[in-house]
Amino acid sequence: MHCPFCGANDTRVTDSRLVAEGDQVRRRRQCAACGERFTTYETAELVMPRVIKSDGSREPFDEAKLRAGMLRALEKRPVSAESIEAAVERIRQTLRARGDREIQACDIGKEVMQALKRLDQVAYIRFASVYRRFQDIDEFRAEIDRLAQEPSFQPDSPGEGR
Ligand SMILES: [Zn+2]
Repeated sequence: MHCPFCGANDTRVTDSRLVAEGDQVRRRRQCAACGERFTTYETAELVMPRVIKSDGSREPFDEAKLRAGMLRALEKRPVSAESIEAAVERIRQTLRARGDREIQACDIGKEVMQALKRLDQVAYIRFASVYRRFQDIDEFRAEIDRLAQEPSFQPDSPGEGR
């Protein structure tokens, strides 16, 4: 890499170590021409798939938007910030692991629903009611009844995220 001081293209690495819990490599470099030292940081570039919206338009994956949607559903619910961040990270990993360059917005919605289902049932119902656009109260009740049948979804189970 070029020296930022004199522009010479011969710089050498004098030290290299992992930082940020192993997510980053910090390198000390020295320019062979002018002797100046400088530091570079190297991180993996994790490319998220682009999002195909329901109208067919594309937009970059927006983690802030994803988080905001989840936080809205989780408002005033007893779920820790750590649990939410872990869920966001899991969703990102899941989406990336698909290996697709583009992903349907509704598939992201499904992942969010799965994550909320594990975190908090009220948040899940809130999100699902917006996402699935329940037409009336019967449809809404049917979904709650359906949920209640799931063994992993008992109100008094020692749930995650408490
Ligand atoms: Zn130099």
